[in-house]
Amino acid sequence: MAQQPQVNYLKDYTVPPYLVDRVDLKFDIEDAQTRVHSRLVVKRNEKSAAASALWLDGSARLLSLTLDGERLDASAYQLAADGVLIPAVPDSFILEVETELEPASNTSLMGLYASNGNLFTQCEPEGFRKITFYMDRPDVMAKFTTTIVADKQKFPVLLSNGNKVGEGVLDKKRHWVKWVDPYRKPSYLFALVAGKLVAARDKFITQRGRSVALEIWTEAADQDKVAFAMGAVKRAMKWDEQRFGLEYDLDIYMIVAVSDFNMGAMENKGLNIFNTSAVLARKDTRTDAEFQRVEAIIAHEYFHNWTGNRVTCRDWFQLSLKEGLTVFRDQEFSSDLGSRGVKRIDDVKSLRALQFPEDAGPTAHPIRPESYIEMNNFYTMTVYEKGAEVVRMYHTLLGEEGFRKGMDLYFKRHDGQAVSCDDFRAAMADANGVDLDQFALWYSQAGTPLLQVSSHYDAAARRYELTVVQSCRAIAGQPAPQPLHIPLALGLVGSDGKDLPLQLEGEGQAQLGTRVLDVKQASQTFVFIDVPEEPVPSLLRGFSAPVRLEYDWRDEQLAFLMANDSDSFCRWEAGQTLAERLFRQLIEAAAQGRALTLPETFVAAFRAVLKDPLADPAFKAMMLGLPSEAEMLEMVEQADPAVIHQVRDFVLDQLAEALRGEWHEAYHLNQTREYKPEDAGRRDLKNRALQMLTRLSVAWPAEAARKQALEADNMSDQMGAMLALRDHDGEERDECYTDFAARWQHDALVMDKFFMLVASSQLEGTLDHVKAAMEHPAFNLKNPNKARALIGSFGNNMVHFHAADGSGYRFLAEQVLALDAINPQVASRIVRAFNRWKKLEAGRQALMKAELERLLAAPLSNDVYEIVYKNLNA
Ligand SMILES: [Zn+2]
Repeated sequence: MAQQPQVNYLKDYTVPPYLVDRVDLKFDIEDAQTRVHSRLVVKRNEKSAAASALWLDGSARLLSLTLDGERLDASAYQLAADGVLIPAVPDSFILEVETELEPASNTSLMGLYASNGNLFTQCEPEGFRKITFYMDRPDVMAKFTTTIVADKQKFPVLLSNGNKVGEGVLDKKRHWVKWVDPYRKPSYLFALVAGKLVAARDKFITQRGRSVALEIWTEAADQDKVAFAMGAVKRAMKWDEQRFGLEYDLDIYMIVAVSDFNMGAMENKGLNIFNTSAVLARKDTRTDAEFQRVEAIIAHEYFHNWTGNRVTCRDWFQLSLKEGLTVFRDQEFSSDLGSRGVKRIDDVKSLRALQFPEDAGPTAHPIRPESYIEMNNFYTMTVYEKGAEVVRMYHTLLGEEGFRKGMDLYFKRHDGQAVSCDDFRAAMADANGVDLDQFALWYSQAGTPLLQVSSHYDAAARRYELTVVQSCRAIAGQPAPQPLHIPLALGLVGSDGKDLPLQLEGEGQAQLGTRVLDVKQASQTFVFIDVPEEPVPSLLRGFSAPVRLEYDWRDEQLAFLMANDSDSFCRWEAGQTLAERLFRQLIEAAAQGRALTLPETFVAAFRAVLKDPLADPAFKAMMLGLPSEAEMLEMVEQADPAVIHQVRDFVLDQLAEALRGEWHEAYHLNQTREYKPEDAGRRDLKNRALQMLTRLSVAWPAEAARKQALEADNMSDQMGAMLALRDHDGEERDECYTDFAARWQHDALVMDKFFMLVASSQLEGTLDHVKAAMEHPAFNLKNPNKARALIGSFGNNMVHFHAADGSGYRFLAEQVLALDAINPQVASRIVRAFNRWKKLEAGRQALMKAELERLLAAPLSNDVYEIVYKNLNA
């Protein structure tokens, strides 16, 4: 709880002075305490010039230190709050460390903690030091063995990393299990699970014919919700063999589900620990989108076995090395198995809604940060999602074959090592014989680049010039932005809606289809020759770079691209650009008190999408989505949240009314008789239609939603109806909400949805409903999923979080303080609702600033302090 926390800098990196060859851990689990005995085989690192003192990170209760068999007297070491210094050690030695933990009182959910009477660990990034004293940094890689001793009745299942090599009974009450992990790993990948759990079992035969046992462990009540996850594991294992030639390397692969977990899931070697929300999936309790998320997270954690575990990060500044790459890999997996176009749009939507604001706000950082106070604060959309975009740009620049060559070289050079983002870039460059020096700036420069594109067509000379000007905002305390190497994928669309052949000046031949331009200068002009007519440019195809792009399309050109572009991302993007233009105009009109109107071109473009007989329903549903309120907030300065909400509501109401026949038809045509997973797109479209129809001043849609909420056999339809009724002030809503809460009171994950629905409603009295929900028996502030569902969702509520009287801000700040005492990691996520305070109009700015100042004056964890401090000082 220090108020002058230490800042860690990338530039200060030095190699570890000592290395650990082996770690033998023994956990003795008793009722109240767990004793940990650790035996380390340590030697001096020849590459280090540092002095011979040994520093071990640790904050557990230290019982004893023994060096080469001699128990150290307290005068032989210096114990601090965050570790221990042993001034004199030989060049190689054996160190034994004994610690004692109280997992039941560990509410931070880092290190060893209890959940429903079972024990779990979470060690990334710096949880291992809460278990024992160790060189808790990723570039210290050792071979681990783990022996666990516990009561047979209370802890029948004892799991750790690697392969199980022995087990036995100690006496009538206690038993033991021993695990050996043959692969070197950093301490953040250590895991232990002990408790009453049951397993679903299967196996996977690798491409070389080895059989791998697969186990998914849950509490008994959840055993019937893991079949989908098991299938996903096998799909991921197969895909990684086929696409990257990567095979699993242990005899067993285990997943354990736990309901108290800070993140989505954790890729511990051979023993992944998952938030229940990221593994359990049954049609009556999870939505189609959640099935997709479960599959993607299962794949993501599995893929880490190579990108993260076999090759790991040198230090935590390199987090994007494993996360950006692994997110890219899971995105590709989902694209190969599902619809590539829809997946791409989905990913871009969340990047824009969540990462772009981060890059524009007080916590902006490059994908490889230069400094941190609390590393937990850098598990961000920037490191993960923008990091994945950077990896995707290598793929775009080098092509599938070139990218694969780079990956192969990366593994050949670095298997078993802890490396940096520069090593990855070097492998990509060397394998392809290309220069990626300028590309390195993507790792050090924060902010979303802007591409301003203009064109000139000379009909007589049949020349078409595109000029691209790139810029990036300057960020205080960071070097002035420089031009980046940006792959710009584009096509030129002719009047028949087809792509024109493209020939750049100086080239002998035209090429068909999309091509990628290397934008490297601050301003650069590309000249296309032999262009028969003035084309409509289709720019940034597939969202080929994480940038904002401006080009002065006419509205009819956007409608034309929406209908004709061969690139599905650009079709969708044309609609988004139209909507953004409209929103900007309407926000201005509303601010000036002028009447709002919806242009007929806009309605017509949406009508065309709804009536398109050929489009895939999932893609249609995507095309019909408008930019979110969070995205709208980014469109204007001095934003008034009430106006933003009013404008979006107006557009939705008008579209509902103007296209009521089309929505009605979409709702009826996409009814499905019985549940089939492959109908997810139709369900989505039908439920969007239902949500639009409940906006009309007629009674039947609310009644239809009521019936669907009460009778649906699957959660997608149930939630679709609940969302349709969320802002509907009527008895249908009350009946369905009461029924839902009663029916699902014993299912923790479904109750998360209930709390989210309550907190995101626009209806009057929502803050009171949120406060009442905190007293609900199914709510528990200590559970991160619950805190995020209720308090986190409230922080996204444009109407009630941003209430003009400041009541929403005050409530959120109070919850941040309460949460910070329980779990700083969760609190520091929730406090980010204040991040965009400088975007708002003066009144709300003042209210938010007051809450931030109130927070800063309170005793805070490093996690929350870092975010609040940056908000007030960036
Ligand atoms: Zn990951």
